[in-house]
Amino acid sequence: MPHAHIPIACLDGAVKRYGRLAALDGADLQLHHGELLALLGPNGAGKTTAISLLLGLVRADAGSVQLFGQDPQRIEARRRIGVMLQNAELPPTLRVGELLRLTASYYPSPRTVRESADLAGVADLLRRPYAKLSGGQQRRVQFALALCGRPELLFLDEPTVGMDIEARQKLWAAIRQLLAEGCSVLLTTHYLEEAEALADRVCVMSRGRMIHEGTVEELRARVALKRVRCLSSLPIDTVYGWPEVSEARREDGRLHIGTAAAESVVRRLLDADPQLRELEVQRAGLAEAFTELTRDADAAADTDQREAA
Ligand code: ATP
Repeated sequence: MPHAHIPIACLDGAVKRYGRLAALDGADLQLHHGELLALLGPNGAGKTTAISLLLGLVRADAGSVQLFGQDPQRIEARRRIGVMLQNAELPPTLRVGELLRLTASYYPSPRTVRESADLAGVADLLRRPYAKLSGGQQRRVQFALALCGRPELLFLDEPTVGMDIEARQKLWAAIRQLLAEGCSVLLTTHYLEEAEALADRVCVMSRGRMIHEGTVEELRARVALKRVRCLSSLPIDTVYGWPEVSEARREDGRLHIGTAAAESVVRRLLDADPQLRELEVQRAGLAEAFTELTRDADAAADTDQREAA
């Protein structure tokens, strides 16, 4: 029986260097049974490197890496996972059905070809050679291959790149079904709406470290910024001169204001412009939270580097 409190995948102070570059610089990560953890971060943050360590594809220079409490290179651990990586190379001449049968044969209790194909939405592609499929179709086949071994843990590295909206939503539905069956998922994505739609927890990485961990809601709440919008003829310079205002611009005749103190900005707006209309106040979205968080981490890292120099 899996134990909910023991992480099924775990990085503890993991360091991976490529020459002078630390792709991972003391990264910590814990994935628990039955959850979907989304790993977010700008290009080069170290997400793929973190996954490669957990898959046993590369070795850490320092720190510890465990999969089901074992060394990730142990075959016992690998039989319990399914993987969908960014640049999957598959034998091009094999048909989809053959690929599924072959991959399933590596696992102790795989799904049937039909079951995997249905779950991944590739039942109509089984007789087609893999190389002749479109990019989006190939991604769906890769997803079928990842789940065909009935894995306890799925690694999905940017799974919906190149998929159209319908294919993306079908894949999300399939992921939810797998989660409902008790599968755990480690997902990397640049689509914040994907993290929002699926993740129990998100981990944000920057420059090889985890800079935030929590629920999607907690990530949003880290950012105090609110958006105030209204139709008003007030000059931008006036609005920008108010101390609470961090951004102000005019777009399509509307004022767009960014502020951490929406109430006081709204009060000033109503006082200054009795004709003001269509006032809206919105919390910052996940995208803004994410941008702000990684920008702060970058600024802090730059200061560290200057101080060290
Ligand atoms: P992306 O969002 O672009 O996929 P990522 O967060 O997955 O990025 P990684 O692929 O883990 O980032 O790369 C982290 C850093 O390590 C990058 O600066 C990258 O150039 C470097 N790196 C990764 N693999 C290697 C390698 N085999 N040799 C040299 N440098 C590498």
